[in-house]
Amino acid sequence: MDDDGEGGKDPPSECNVEEILSEEIVPGTVDQHITHNPKNDHNAQPTSTPQENLPLEKDNELPKPPPRRRVYQPESTGPWRQSSLYFVLGLRSIRIKKLNYLIMVVKARKWLYAKKFEGEPTSANFKLVEEVLPELQDGEFLAQAEFLSVDPYMRPYMRSYEEGTLMIGGQVAKVIDSRNEKYPRGSIVFGQFGWRTHTICNPDKYNGGSNLYLLPEFGSLPLSLGLGILGMPGNTAYFGFLELCTPKEGETVVVSGAAGAVGSVVGQIAKIKGCRVIGIAGSDDKCSWLKDLGFDYTINYKTANVAEELKKGAPKGVDCYFDNVGGTITEAVMRQMNLYGRISVCGTISNYSSVPIKVQDPQTDFVFKQLKMEGFIVTKWSARWVEGLTGLMQWIKEGKLKYQETVTNGFENMPQAFMDMLKGANTGKAVVKV
Ligand code: NAP
Repeated sequence: MDDDGEGGKDPPSECNVEEILSEEIVPGTVDQHITHNPKNDHNAQPTSTPQENLPLEKDNELPKPPPRRRVYQPESTGPWRQSSLYFVLGLRSIRIKKLNYLIMVVKARKWLYAKKFEGEPTSANFKLVEEVLPELQDGEFLAQAEFLSVDPYMRPYMRSYEEGTLMIGGQVAKVIDSRNEKYPRGSIVFGQFGWRTHTICNPDKYNGGSNLYLLPEFGSLPLSLGLGILGMPGNTAYFGFLELCTPKEGETVVVSGAAGAVGSVVGQIAKIKGCRVIGIAGSDDKCSWLKDLGFDYTINYKTANVAEELKKGAPKGVDCYFDNVGGTITEAVMRQMNLYGRISVCGTISNYSSVPIKVQDPQTDFVFKQLKMEGFIVTKWSARWVEGLTGLMQWIKEGKLKYQETVTNGFENMPQAFMDMLKGANTGKAVVKV
């Protein structure tokens, strides 16, 4: 609770305090209900609340309405999808000596890594549990998740975690209670809090490194972009491509995983830099979207021969390759690299859930074409995080960068959204709206 000069009994904004105080004595409970209506979900645009505590930018400064955003409904129904009622917040009022004290009892829901991944994740790998959070202490704030991210890295990273631990992940959350003046109530944060609805965080004891920050002003853009083009994937594309591929005007750039969160941004940045861009993705619909984004040539790797198509799309060979997938796609691209070509190794999703497929040794090409290949983790550029987001935001404002999100509704659908993203159900960034 905030210590706001009124005895620290300031109630949470979500609750109807008058109603609670008017009750003679309790204990009573106020539930916040979230109704899940699959019928409506298909058409519904996810609500995206601009940061309430920050001034909006002028109308003409940002393009609107925001570009394509699609709400995705997972096909299979896990046990938690059936439920339409969730107990989120309980509030009890206790009258002691004619004074009303409000004690906020917050129940967080969280997804645990219940069973080690073997091959592709299944619902048996996850378990949904509740946790009653303690009262806030000095220096802490309470954040309520608005959007959570599902990312490919979660699959390989969880290998080093024990069963029963919290699923890792980033989220955009609203501070709903605070005893830390740097994170006042109403502010919006990005935090690496894991798959949980409510989090108590003490920034001084936070172990997520630089992965905790107040979201910069997004103007009229959706807050969920803080998980995508204006967050980690955006910066992955920005720095991972510009710094490691060092593209030059007129060069040919190939991007694998091109219709995803990172790849779609890489391709557009390559176009901004005056390159010819070839995108490789897993469906005709995705390829069609890439064309809309300005890609010069696209390859559906599931239906086409990548090597043959590449000869057509890149008749002068490949100067830069931004690799999101590894495996046979990468083997085909490497074979067609030009002298002094640069390869930025961002990820190898093709082998995250399976044993790596054997590919031909690429060393000969590396020697005779004098290629340069470098892997990276985006946190390498932590100190330049804001610089990346500012650059990306500017390009969005100028209409040079477009985005798409695949939004799954409901915290209970986190595992499904994650599993589907790994299988390619997403176009652009996959996020979950709580
Ligand atoms: P994403 O591309 O939005 O989603 C994953 C996509 O991978 C799927 O939509 C699917 O699209 C594709 N895919 C799945 N299995 C595949 C396979 N066997 N072969 C080829 N494509 C496959 O995810 P993202 O967040 O942008 O991440 C893309 C890559 O970047 C991942 O490898 C991730 O680990 C990596 N990454 C690295 C860093 C870093 O710091 N190095 C940071 C962020 C992300 P299709 O329909 O096209 O198959």
